[in-house]
Amino acid sequence: MQCEMCGKESSLVQANVEGAVMSVCSECARFGAVLETPQRIIAAKEKVKRMQEKPEEEEEVILVKKNYASLIKHAREKREIKHEDLGKALAEKVSLLQAIEAGNKEPNFDLAKKLERFFDIHLLETVKLENKHHSNESVGGMTIADIMKKKLKK
Ligand SMILES: [Zn+2]
Repeated sequence: MQCEMCGKESSLVQANVEGAVMSVCSECARFGAVLETPQRIIAAKEKVKRMQEKPEEEEEVILVKKNYASLIKHAREKREIKHEDLGKALAEKVSLLQAIEAGNKEPNFDLAKKLERFFDIHLLETVKLENKHHSNESVGGMTIADIMKKKLKK
């Protein structure tokens, strides 16, 4: 997108410059009044609402347990199943299963699920991460802080 005032390639905002609505870059937006598009306002409102509902927003990620290799190995040995048979049962490559058991390769989510079901074991765990990026999230290429600054400048 090209700024209608300076021609710079940039993410643009709609601004009212001396009565004319133009798509301008953030630099040129200073010369006019920034008009917020409906989507931008909705996105900003949604974000504020989310932050109010969950002030300490936590993100959850599902990870494969660190000791996955021994968990799988023990389960397989307990049932006296060969790698070859496990490969057939799960429709996976034997070499991949061997690499996983050796701890050389972490199973992906789907395979971990399959192994969990097959052996009736738990390979996946949910880990909570604190989300510390509230203020830097962008709305349409601009952060909320940027939008606020522009409003203050006019
Ligand atoms: Zn410009």
